[in-house]
Amino acid sequence: MELSERAKSIPPSITLAISAKVKEMKVAGEEVIAFGAGEPDFDTPEKISQAAIDSLLAGATHYMPSSGTSEAREAIANKLRTDNNIDCTQANISINAGAKMSINLALMSILDPGKNQEVVVPTPAWVSYKPMIELAGGLMVEVPTTVDTHFKCTAEEIEAAITPNTKAIMLNTPSNPCGTMYTPEELKAIAKMLERHPDSYILSDEIYDKLIYSDIKHFSLGSIPEIAGQVITINGLSKTYAMTGWRIGYVCAPENVAKAMNTLQSQINTSITSFCYAAIPVALGMHDEVEEMRQVFAKRSELMFELIQEWPNVECAQPTGAFYAFPKISHYFGKTSPAGAEITDAVNFTKALLEETGVAVVPGTDFGGCGPDHIRLSFACSEDQITKGVNKACDWLGKFE
Ligand code: PMP
Repeated sequence: MELSERAKSIPPSITLAISAKVKEMKVAGEEVIAFGAGEPDFDTPEKISQAAIDSLLAGATHYMPSSGTSEAREAIANKLRTDNNIDCTQANISINAGAKMSINLALMSILDPGKNQEVVVPTPAWVSYKPMIELAGGLMVEVPTTVDTHFKCTAEEIEAAITPNTKAIMLNTPSNPCGTMYTPEELKAIAKMLERHPDSYILSDEIYDKLIYSDIKHFSLGSIPEIAGQVITINGLSKTYAMTGWRIGYVCAPENVAKAMNTLQSQINTSITSFCYAAIPVALGMHDEVEEMRQVFAKRSELMFELIQEWPNVECAQPTGAFYAFPKISHYFGKTSPAGAEITDAVNFTKALLEETGVAVVPGTDFGGCGPDHIRLSFACSEDQITKGVNKACDWLGKFE
């Protein structure tokens, strides 16, 4: 029996193939230093876990309304008002099973299949955007960027990609996979441009808003009153609070969009897990622990950047947010690795690096734009691992013919 076109259209992830190889090598007793993780290596702070345990033991084990609890929505609205200057109430909030689900539901709420609606996305961009846009019936239109501009595009470049079919723009700052972020001035210029396109939404993925390492301040497009009605802000607890497995994401959107998302959710998966709602106000009220984790990431980002600077013939933008470095390694295409592998692209570069040194990274291939010339290294791992792994890769690169 044939599968649906939808199911067949989703490509298998290259990252998973690398993870499988890493597992295989570990089982064979080989030492692997992995820089693939898209998640913090910390445990969820205990106070947050305790809030969910208490809620579970107190009997929060039944169906919940798809809009969740008022306490959780209020805590999120309060966070967005206080930290992000977004003028919002509980009615603008939808809480979903991870920011991934938030993006899926937001796209399903604004896109119509079969109408050639386009979503403009600066690339390289997080691998899931394209499948999510396509599953919701839209087409992704790329605005390619390069390492020279720290992977940021201008308002003019985005505007040039806007057509009468444009339904939304998707922006992610700080960025996965690029590790860079837009300045408030750059975002204000994008907002000015958006005023000329009032029929276009902008999905602003701010899931890394607390993980920043330079003096660039995080700025939310939703804080600009002139375009607030077009902005769908995406965020979640996964990255900031080391809660990736919990699956808690949220959206702040115009009321009709938030309501549509809750209605869609009610038919798809009802709500997030009942006893997780109680953890949301506790997490969002936590500041010292978040700052401690941020400082650890900040040190790691400096270390990784300094060591990558030593890599011969590689360009790397300094990571200013999220937990990724995204060096350009295309100098090595057309060359032969120290153990004799022909390197033609980022995928076989990554494979040779793993097999010859035990260092696992993610090829930039699936991120779009100039991604195929890059690899992604996550610094969500110890300083020891960073020093050892990045130096090993450096020695390996030094031995290329
Ligand atoms: N947006 C970006 C840019 C991400 O990197 C991720 C996680 N990799 C997500 C959204 C989704 O996060 P989650 O579903 O874990 O909340």
